[in-house]
Amino acid sequence: MSITDQSDDITHPGEATGLVHDGQLRSPHGETSEALYLTSGFVYDSAEAAEARFKGEDDGYVYSRYGNPTVAMFEQRIATLEGAEGARATSSGMAAVNMALLSQLQAGDHVVAARALFGSCRYIVEDLLPRFGVASTLIDGCDLDAWQAAVRPETKVFFLETPSNPTLRLIDLDAVCGIARQAGAQVIVDNVFATPLLQKPLQHGADIVVYSATKHIDGQGRCLGGVVLGRTETLDGPMKDFYRHTGPSLSPFNAWVLLKGLETLPLRVERQCANATAVAEALNASANVSRTLYPGRADHPDFNLAQRQMRAGGTMVAFDLAGGKKAAFDFLNTLKLIRISNNLGDAKSLATHPATTTHQRLTEAQRAELEIGDGTVRLSVGIEAAGDLVADVEAALAAI
Ligand SMILES: *Cc1c(COP(=O)(O)O)cnc(C)c1O
Repeated sequence: MSITDQSDDITHPGEATGLVHDGQLRSPHGETSEALYLTSGFVYDSAEAAEARFKGEDDGYVYSRYGNPTVAMFEQRIATLEGAEGARATSSGMAAVNMALLSQLQAGDHVVAARALFGSCRYIVEDLLPRFGVASTLIDGCDLDAWQAAVRPETKVFFLETPSNPTLRLIDLDAVCGIARQAGAQVIVDNVFATPLLQKPLQHGADIVVYSATKHIDGQGRCLGGVVLGRTETLDGPMKDFYRHTGPSLSPFNAWVLLKGLETLPLRVERQCANATAVAEALNASANVSRTLYPGRADHPDFNLAQRQMRAGGTMVAFDLAGGKKAAFDFLNTLKLIRISNNLGDAKSLATHPATTTHQRLTEAQRAELEIGDGTVRLSVGIEAAGDLVADVEAALAAI
């Protein structure tokens, strides 16, 4: 579909069905809903059976740090959605990012990353990796020449987010993956903002996709979770031992919540995209707003790329208030329905002032590089009635 036509279904054929049924491991009891295997360990019928499991001759479960049937159902369901050979679920999005990077890298390697990264991702790339001898270069991800120029013989990984947080700028996945292939580097894409429905990085040449499942996949603000998706050879390569022995595993309880979240993901994201379109329109109509950033709008700087790369404009809207911090705080403090929170992807609409919260750690110059001003506000648009959201936004704009 065209991203300007929000009335169309955002899912590819079969996806909505797969998200309800794929991966279910139905027990002999014949339960309708997926079973929650809330167990840390597993018992064996004999010492010989235990030996065979540990030798890997029998692929049953050993310990929930290695694998668990409820977690496996979640992994299978999301792997099918992503079109990935496999998935490894983790306890948070950051555990997924950390595993995707650390399991691939060693001292002497080099990482190139787009600097518009989620704050904790930027900490890993900028502060943590160099402590272990992995050099990193942060660049403007929208500038293709900058990716090329940053490549060194020892470059092993390209890491990026698109759309970026919070200004929703896009990076050309086909082009960046092409540069990486030439450089012999792997591309890791943090696809949280796009959701697995709206953008398929593996189809554009990415090697690994990571999610914070805490966001749209849970979608109801209940639990943390994450997932790494990619080829079997990657997941069963160095990542396998990393996963088993460093303990980023997802709790079966949270896996069950996320599995149920996947069932309703298309319904929620479709509604969120439609609501985001309406909210962006209301923002753009206000004289208090100097710039509205929504990838589904023709006035977005990366609109043409969004048309090629995404199936809809997404659930996030960013905008700049001409009145700076005072205007932004007036706006946030007047909102009634939309709550102030740094979370995103929730059924509930949430508003953030990045300069004083999520991006507070950065210097003013670093924020300026990312085009985060004192008047920048980020909205994560939920599934409420569009008219109620627009009314809340209009009342808050009027109070500035
Ligand atoms: C939230 C988020 C993360 C981290 O996920 P957690 O589940 O909070 O650990 C990483 N990347 C992006 C883009 C996010 O929005």
